Amino acid sequence: MHEISIAGAIIDSVLDAAKKNNAIKVNEVFLEIGELTALNPDQLKFIFETITQGTAAQGACFNISTIKTSIRCKKCSYKGDIESLDRLHFFIPVIKCPQCDETDVDIVAGRECCVKKMKIS
Ligand SMILES: [Zn+2]
Repeated sequence: MHEISIAGAIIDSVLDAAKKNNAIKVNEVFLEIGELTALNPDQLKFIFETITQGTAAQGACFNISTIKTSIRCKKCSYKGDIESLDRLHFFIPVIKCPQCDETDVDIVAGRECCVKKMKIS
């Protein structure tokens, strides 16, 4: 489960930001997780709730939005979303252009894993 190490890194940055802003408590955290990260939002939330015990982020509400995979085709210059990938194939994703089946594409979105904003007090 790579969720644990990633969740740890996210919480570290949340707590770090809270500290820099002299916050006593983190109330809400908004996250963006790309489809290609293969992270499970429910699992992430559960880990967050566990590892934030005793920290300023304890009891914070975690809002996770999933970013769809978006590509730019090098062959036909199609730009946009691709069909949702089958979760089982996440670790060997075959990403191809929905228009011409080309696999030589640039991934524009789908790999993000970041804190978009947070509410502190
Ligand atoms: Zn194409």
